[in-house]
Amino acid sequence: MEGKHYINGEWSTEGDGVIDVRNPATGELFGTVPNGGEAEATKAIEAAEAAFPEWSKTTAYHRAELLMKWHDLLLENKQEVAEILTKEMGKPLAEAIGEIEYSASFISWYAEEGKRVYGHTIPASKDSKRIQIIKQPVGVVVSITPWNFPAAMMARKMAPALAAGCTFVAKPAKLTPLTAVKIYELAEQAGFPKGVINLVTGSAGKIGKVFTSHPAVRKLTFTGSTEIGKELMKQSSETMLNLSLELGGHAPIIVLDDADIDSAVKGVMASKFRNAGQTCVCGNRIYVQESIVDEFSRKLQEAAGKLKVGNGLDEGVEIGPLVDKDGYEKVEKHVQDAVGKGAKVLVGGDGQTANEAYFYNPTILLNANPDMLVMNEETFGPVAPIMSFKTDEEAVKLANDTRFGLAAYFFTESMSRGTYIAENLDYGIVGWNDGLPSAAQAPFGGMKESGIGREGGQEGLEAFLETKYISIQL
Ligand code: ADP
Repeated sequence: MEGKHYINGEWSTEGDGVIDVRNPATGELFGTVPNGGEAEATKAIEAAEAAFPEWSKTTAYHRAELLMKWHDLLLENKQEVAEILTKEMGKPLAEAIGEIEYSASFISWYAEEGKRVYGHTIPASKDSKRIQIIKQPVGVVVSITPWNFPAAMMARKMAPALAAGCTFVAKPAKLTPLTAVKIYELAEQAGFPKGVINLVTGSAGKIGKVFTSHPAVRKLTFTGSTEIGKELMKQSSETMLNLSLELGGHAPIIVLDDADIDSAVKGVMASKFRNAGQTCVCGNRIYVQESIVDEFSRKLQEAAGKLKVGNGLDEGVEIGPLVDKDGYEKVEKHVQDAVGKGAKVLVGGDGQTANEAYFYNPTILLNANPDMLVMNEETFGPVAPIMSFKTDEEAVKLANDTRFGLAAYFFTESMSRGTYIAENLDYGIVGWNDGLPSAAQAPFGGMKESGIGREGGQEGLEAFLETKYISIQL
């Protein structure tokens, strides 16, 4: 598949050669995209700048019609888009189809929500004055997205930005740009006017510099690592960019002794092993109350041992390859470090590598402790370390002992214990007996070093709006 930039309504291949896109399940070349840089990023931003005045004045009803055409096209073509996604990213096809449906859910939700951008009026302290507050689109938006959800991360940014009346420039991840190209082809068919949506592939550093320094850009929305998020925040200080940053996580899962153990195992499996553990909200460390550790870990071991590892395009595969060699080596390092510090491998603990494809087997570790890397750094792989705890207060303290604050999960049947835990976890997203809390209508985002702002829900639309206060002297 040959990908291209989409700038000002035209497909192009400018740049410094091409970037190869490989299938992580086979190591084979799947396609290429142009290696764009400053010139292409600048052109795209200027196209978005030129398109903004007209687009921002269209009605929310008109924008919703275009968004819904795009939504329908995405669902009609979901098999094809999902196959591209699996071939460049590796996740099982069923999960890729789920990701396309999830992406479409953002588009339809924001098509509707864009019609509900309410302002308000406030009683003034003098009879001769009126105070009016209106909401307006922030302007040209640039977006940088990661490889682990090549479709959903873009849709979650693009749909609310377009619904709000902003124009948009996207830079997809180097490892997974072809899903974005296909989604843009469908958006073009839906009929967005030229310059409203733009796509630039290529050098992250060069494109990122233009994104954060061009005076026409008003908003950067980024999903990726905390490290790059901090770098972009520094760069953005020059133009005082409005920022939404959805960064790394290190999700704790707490299982209390009154939990329904079978449903807790199901929830942990969903949270931990989806996308082979390569999501920022994946459970990274599991705290289990001491009286149920044996039963819980035996059941989790049984479930993890049944997962089928392989090429995501093959029938029944539930765990695809890790995205690349670096990802694999990090997982290996976390497991070796844990074993060296006293963890017991209940299942897994190894992988298979051949022809530049890196598969790691679902792994459960028992007797984890806070000194282990896996209990502190994002593993981004199918590894679940279990540590026991005694009291609810201790569990909350352990869970909060991190610089991250994206997602946390806990399992209990008790209303009062659950309320205590939910209210005391320092996390933006909390799943109570729920391993999969993400939804288009709910705000998603982190506290602490997991980021700034929320995506999804009403907050996700607000992120692309400015508040204007109009004071009227009669
Ligand atoms: P991850 O590897 O978890 O996806 P990264 O933060 O490395 O996290 O990458 C997320 C996105 O940020 C990708 O699109 C990547 O190309 C981009 N990126 C990486 N480095 C930079 C940079 N210096 N400036 C702008 N974007 C960057």
